[in-house]
Amino acid sequence: MDRQVVGRFAPSPSGRMHLGNVFCALLAWLAARSENGAVVLRHEDLDPERCPRRYAELLEDDLLWLGLDWDEGGSRGGPRGPYYQSERTAFYEEAYERLRAMGLIYPCFCSRAELHAAEAPHLSDGRVLYSGRCRSLTPEERRALSERRRPAGRLMVPDEEIAFTDLSCGAYRENLAAMCGDFLVRRSDGVFAYQLAVVVDDALMGVTQVVRGRDLLDSTPRQLYLYRLLGYTPPAFGHIPLLLDPAGARLSKRDAALDLGRLRARFTPEQLLGQLAFAGGLLEQPEPVTARELVPLFAWEKLPAADVRLPASIWEEG
Ligand code: GLU
Repeated sequence: MDRQVVGRFAPSPSGRMHLGNVFCALLAWLAARSENGAVVLRHEDLDPERCPRRYAELLEDDLLWLGLDWDEGGSRGGPRGPYYQSERTAFYEEAYERLRAMGLIYPCFCSRAELHAAEAPHLSDGRVLYSGRCRSLTPEERRALSERRRPAGRLMVPDEEIAFTDLSCGAYRENLAAMCGDFLVRRSDGVFAYQLAVVVDDALMGVTQVVRGRDLLDSTPRQLYLYRLLGYTPPAFGHIPLLLDPAGARLSKRDAALDLGRLRARFTPEQLLGQLAFAGGLLEQPEPVTARELVPLFAWEKLPAADVRLPASIWEEG
């Protein structure tokens, strides 16, 4: 028998929830519910200073207002908690130690400026490839550098293609050595990196299906590599289109007109869900609809191949 589908929504509560987050929450919820799956809510507040608890509380209130419920997680708790990354450091520590014991982690002393310096290899999409500079430091060099700076932890990557089939984007492959280089799993201030935390959490929380924005598509090969190293079964991944403003720019978290505080004053949940379902190709018209009514309409094939422009009416006071 197939495993039960366990989907999740993993927002970073660093501000009021935003229309782009709602689109992601809606599609993650629909993808799970349309297969009778469970939904987990995990607050990705790895950096607790940027994520005061009141944003997580508001986020839960916004999700419930929209009719997007969850079976475990958040303040509701559950058997695989805690569901706040700021409280899960011991799990990340354990995984990090296992990687270190495999000899795959080395200290990196490069500053941000050095990493982005003009001579660092830049790829055509603007990504900066890590040069591997700190991989080959001698023990003496490491000792001398650690007197001046606290190192970050970097994971060595293989010169090998990592391929997977995305539920929305189809076949995707990346050679980590060529496209990314050794990547950070722990920052120099000791905070574990998103890539490590997300893998550990999704694995330990029994997540079988990860639905998130296409801006994270190129993180997935790194995460698949971590799944392999840590001996976890990877979930299925579906990377959904991003929402754009009428001029074609990505929605910005700073656009206060699109935060749920403002949107809740102007729209009913059904109106907002109708707009998003239309943007996602699930409705022919942006007509009011409940989350439950959308469950039978969800299908991966309906999602647009390209990012989606929202109409100006979402910004205009009606
Ligand atoms: N916490 C991330 C964000 O809000 C999402 C991570 C994920 O879905 O893997 O952008």
